[in-house]
Amino acid sequence: SDEGAAVVAAVQAVAERLEAERTHLTDLDSAIGDADHGGNMARGWKAAAEEVAALDDPDPATVVKTAGKKLLSEVGGASGPLYGGSLVFASPELEDGITAETAVAFAETYLEKVQDRGDARVGDKTMVDALVPAVHTFKKSVETDDLPPVEALAKAVAAAERGVDFTVPIRASKGRASYLGWRSVGHQDPGATSTLYILEELLAAAE
Ligand code: ADP
Ligand code: MG
Ligand code: MG
Repeated sequence: SDEGAAVVAAVQAVAERLEAERTHLTDLDSAIGDADHGGNMARGWKAAAEEVAALDDPDPATVVKTAGKKLLSEVGGASGPLYGGSLVFASPELEDGITAETAVAFAETYLEKVQDRGDARVGDKTMVDALVPAVHTFKKSVETDDLPPVEALAKAVAAAERGVDFTVPIRASKGRASYLGWRSVGHQDPGATSTLYILEELLAAAE
């Protein structure tokens, strides 16, 4: 379908962006982790983009599920299962196509799975600090403020950006960075940052 092809193009755009940010994400992860987040994301999304490009006229749910499975198999560590498993889990929400309503359901289900799996809350200095404000802002913008989906997504990106900034002054309580305790303060979380980049590319693809 046309929508499926648009999602394939979005996955490709995400892969290119994360390749461009590989060094930056790895630098962030070398400060408070094990210096592999840039490689994990660039390698995983490249493999995912190749996999979805090979599908024969897929629908959006199939594209997302296929990309998620590839991330799961390509990326170890914390971020592979969090990104990949959550995409696979939320993909059925797009089975009826992409509308404002299904996009909100997808975002909420994705967030729910990230939190089920990782058990992180806002303030733990993880991707959840970008994701929670993004998903809540997206939902509110669509359902309460009645904004068109692209404008709602733009608001969500702005919220994610504030979420990324919020990770800098706080102490990590989940993931590898938590091993550093207070020494994690003053550093930006890599996973929150990659989440922001992905959302920025989804917005660019939707515009
Ligand atoms: P690893 O830490 O296993 O090397 P990555 O470097 O690829 O994996 O990813 C690290 C990112 O994963 C962190 O910056 C953080 O945003 C995210 N993360 C780690 N643990 C959790 C968790 N329990 N819940 C949510 N996100 C997490
Ligand atoms: Mg790492
Ligand atoms: Mg690692």
